Amino acid sequence: MSTIRFQALKETLGRKPVKVEEIGKKSEIFGTNVFNDKSMRKFLTPDAYKAVKNAVQHGIKIDRKLADYIAMGMKEWALTKGVTHYTHWFQPLTGATAEKHDAFFETSFDGSDPVEKFGGDQLAQQEPDASSFPNGGIRNTFEARGYTAWDPTSPAFIYGTTLCIPTVFVSYTGEALDYKTPLLRALHAIDEAATEVCKYFDKNVKKVTPTLGWEQEYFLIDTALANSRPDILATGRTLLGHTSAKGQQLEDHYFGSIPTRVLNYMRDLENECMLLGIPVKTRHNEVAPNQFELAPIFEETNLAVDHNSLLMDVMQKVAERHEFRVLFHEKPFKGVNGSGKHNNWSLATDTGINLLSPGKTPMSNLQFLTFFINTIKAVNVYEELLRAAIASASNDHRLGANEAPPAIISVFIGQQLTKVLEELEGVSTGKLSPEEKTDLKLNVVGKIPDVLLDNTDRNRTSPFAFTGNKFEFRAVGSSANCANAMTTLNSIVAKQLKDFKAEVDTLIEKNDLKKDEAIFNVLREYIKQTKAILFEGDGYSEAWEKEAKKRGLSNHKTTPEALKAKVSKKAIALFEELNVMNHVEVEARYEIELEEYTKKIQIEGRVLGDIARNHVVPTAIRYQNILIENVRGLKEIFGKDFEKIAKEQISLIKEISEHIEGINLKVGKMTEERKKANTLTNAEKMAAAYCDKVKPFFEEIRYHSDKLELLVDDEIWTLTKYRELLFTK
Ligand code: ADP
Ligand code: MG
Repeated sequence: MSTIRFQALKETLGRKPVKVEEIGKKSEIFGTNVFNDKSMRKFLTPDAYKAVKNAVQHGIKIDRKLADYIAMGMKEWALTKGVTHYTHWFQPLTGATAEKHDAFFETSFDGSDPVEKFGGDQLAQQEPDASSFPNGGIRNTFEARGYTAWDPTSPAFIYGTTLCIPTVFVSYTGEALDYKTPLLRALHAIDEAATEVCKYFDKNVKKVTPTLGWEQEYFLIDTALANSRPDILATGRTLLGHTSAKGQQLEDHYFGSIPTRVLNYMRDLENECMLLGIPVKTRHNEVAPNQFELAPIFEETNLAVDHNSLLMDVMQKVAERHEFRVLFHEKPFKGVNGSGKHNNWSLATDTGINLLSPGKTPMSNLQFLTFFINTIKAVNVYEELLRAAIASASNDHRLGANEAPPAIISVFIGQQLTKVLEELEGVSTGKLSPEEKTDLKLNVVGKIPDVLLDNTDRNRTSPFAFTGNKFEFRAVGSSANCANAMTTLNSIVAKQLKDFKAEVDTLIEKNDLKKDEAIFNVLREYIKQTKAILFEGDGYSEAWEKEAKKRGLSNHKTTPEALKAKVSKKAIALFEELNVMNHVEVEARYEIELEEYTKKIQIEGRVLGDIARNHVVPTAIRYQNILIENVRGLKEIFGKDFEKIAKEQISLIKEISEHIEGINLKVGKMTEERKKANTLTNAEKMAAAYCDKVKPFFEEIRYHSDKLELLVDDEIWTLTKYRELLFTK
């Protein structure tokens, strides 16, 4: 009997839901462990408080002396909550968050005067031993050191007994080594560009803040079951496993009642989130069995990204208490829906306006249309770069797999707005007659709000959809750091808004047009230029692939192919112009992502080869031996008649041999290809070799293994099966 699998099942079936204490009304506990406005007012001097506020709102640098006071206040606050350590909390390009804890505790060199200490220096900057974080060659060329520096725009928080200070992570020479640095720069760029454009409509706007509301999908698997699968442990997904007889066909899981064990996990998680100031609001079952989703109220983008990264860490930690493992992988199970992380995005002004929400007056609607059409234009120009921003080995399983958005980037806007754009396309060139202006105001721009209310058709197959008051970027992977997608999206829109402003200003100055005339003129041209990116139909269909090709849209199905757009001249020029990244930073990131891709496929290949040869083949042989024993017995009893009686067994024996041969052959070939790929020194070529030469064997090996799973006696099969992973509650 295969012990691990059956022990795991027994353990899982015996689990009781873990009790979760209610710790108070959400509104009362929210942000208790965050150094938020309330705690800052209490623990900071007025000067120090003002310095933090100015840094957050206006990007004003914090004076060193004040940093000392802020640190002191932060420490006092943390000590009242039993905190012993502090850490700079950052997001290196590994995909996980990083922290290195130091105690507040200090003594004099002779051990006297023990005291809890934390000064401005420790708050502002640290030098973690960062040599093992990915740097894409940046540090080799310059200096081996990396620095973390305080990001006052994201508040410090307490996790466990540690004070966590969100920081950026940069090299000695200032190059970004993390996700946060370019994101902050992109947010700054779009703030500047969008504020300028807002001034056409309202001179009082001083700041525009991009907002992000992510939706996190995930799978929950019992710890014992997860531990019984070496592939899940090493790669986060199942590399083998025949689909379960019952999958998601019935869709009976979607929005169904949440099992108690899971519900308790969610409640526990939500409590933690409340304390950490992560405003989670929604929870529900997703389409696939054991798949769930969680979504917060949207926030300022930098904070939202931090919260998502923190959440993913907290989710795994809370799951331990409930004997669950969270799978963030985009496609943990073949034949079952994968997970994404929808990024809902919009722009908000400091005057309280959502720029992607239609307004009440024709003028505010023209403002809405301006931002709406500029976003579409940005996606049209930079669709390849946007695709590159969400590329990863794991997300490749989802994009283009006819369940998640395709690898083709397009924009869905709905019927009514399509009509509005069609009408705007007819706007006259140059000056507009008073009649035309009135008509536009009354019948086109003025009509938008009513029109949108019944614009409820939502196209689930679109990667980038307008959903009434925001765009939803749906192709982001569930395991991704949102920063990658958000840096790109905000950069391309920033660039577009800058160009738009320049074009409108030129028309006003050179062609003597009125402001609104100039805006209508530029928007009309944009509408004409962006038709290729708009698509309302079924994104999963083959017809769309053909049509998209005709339209000249990219369709990069694999990461190595998709990533190339990151280092195109166009992309580098964009990031340099906006000061988001210089070419060294861009190229380093490209290299890092290629390496990560290669490593992921390499690990999967190794694990697959190992499981196939060391679990599947020996199990198949064991079963085959049982069959052989049986045939031998039949021969003994029935003599020459045995062949007829043992017919089925004999054909099974042969079939098993064929699949064993298939596995051994394919694993051998795959290993050869891996060896060849490993000799390549160029990261791009190596990733391509892993993608095109190594990875294709995965499916072939899996095919034989999954066939064997159907043939071999269930009692001796060692790998926990799909039905057990997906349906054991
Ligand atoms: P649904 O899509 O189910 O109708 P909502 O439209 O309320 O739900 O929002 C879905 C997600 O979009 C939520 O995570 C929410 O926080 C986010 N969201 C709503 N408005 C905005 C906005 N202006 N900017 C960014 N995200 C938003
Ligand atoms: Mg959504």
